[in-house]
Amino acid sequence: MPDLVIENLTKAFNLLKAIDDVSLTVADGEFVTLLGPSGCGKSTTLGAIAGLDRADIGRIRLGNQVFFDGAESRFMPPEKRDIGLVFQSYALWPHMTVRKNLEYPLKLRKVPAKERDSRIDEVLDLVEMAPYADRYPFALSGGQQQRVALARTLVYRPRLLLLDEPLSNLDAKLRERARIWLRNIQSRVNVTTVYVTHDQIEALALSDRIAVMSKGKIVQLAPPRVVYDNPATEFVADFIGSANIFPGALESYDSKHSKLRLADDGILIADRPPPEGAKGRLSIAVRPERILFIHEHGDVPSENVFTVKVESASFLGARLLVVVRLGDTQLRVECDSAPEGDVVRIVIPPSACTLFEMQA
Ligand code: ATP
Repeated sequence: MPDLVIENLTKAFNLLKAIDDVSLTVADGEFVTLLGPSGCGKSTTLGAIAGLDRADIGRIRLGNQVFFDGAESRFMPPEKRDIGLVFQSYALWPHMTVRKNLEYPLKLRKVPAKERDSRIDEVLDLVEMAPYADRYPFALSGGQQQRVALARTLVYRPRLLLLDEPLSNLDAKLRERARIWLRNIQSRVNVTTVYVTHDQIEALALSDRIAVMSKGKIVQLAPPRVVYDNPATEFVADFIGSANIFPGALESYDSKHSKLRLADDGILIADRPPPEGAKGRLSIAVRPERILFIHEHGDVPSENVFTVKVESASFLGARLLVVVRLGDTQLRVECDSAPEGDVVRIVIPPSACTLFEMQA
């Protein structure tokens, strides 16, 4: 069931379209992430859903509540929208204890006093902050403050949860843990959620679906695995998982394969047809972890084997990143162990190649 429906939303600042004809539906209880580089329009979209910003054109509704309708000049003020908003900065009230911070939004919404305590206890349990109920925010770590900020929103049971980079003030280790509890809590509460981030790992780990944004538009909307394995555009392939992208000339194709000639004259077979209508030169995207080194005495596949020169190798902790050169093209290869020698062979599996029309 679609819960949040956004249709043809557009918002310009002077001549710049910060959101350009964005349409998106989020199902009841679904977790959708707006992901993209700085300035692509994520926060403006979230602001328009929250009512902090007024869009120019389009429609936004939640269930049967109309938040915004440009054509009918309808705009519901933010305080009337049944939403919970959590930002990067925790913005807890410093002069109030955790319990008082959570009580305040309940008082505002005129929740009866006898119900307030049980709601606060329930949500503090949920975010595992019950032992800290009587502390002031200054006596909490960043991660704990962010839990309280989320609790302060969840306590009034909003119909829609909007999160704008809520984990970005946390250090790397805490972020990783916070991702897990955030997803657990969201699915337990089962609240429809829109999450904004420029962090691809966060988006992949948290979301039911990811809306990848570029220059005010949604360029792909799909589950994390689909976005990763089948990026819709060269931009998505590059932004998520930073694929190797290199040119090839289309020699022939059928409904299942494409044969491309690379700059060094080698032939690459891809396990997919070229994009519809594409001909001539294409962009080929291959993720660094999909390229394999052929080790001495190892099996040599019959196709897509290339001789390359090793340029550098860096230690990433769990894995190695090896940069190799194939003709004019530099390729990044992520692997467990690099082969011996400066000149080695790699294989690019046909299933690892995604093809795009070459960008102008
Ligand atoms: P970030 O990740 O850096 O927060 P974002 O994807 O959330 O970026 P937005 O904040 O939505 O991007 O901004 C989209 C575009 O609109 C940017 O080019 C930005 O400079 C512009 N913009 C946003 N707010 C305003 C404003 N109030 N006045 C003028 N331009 C604005």
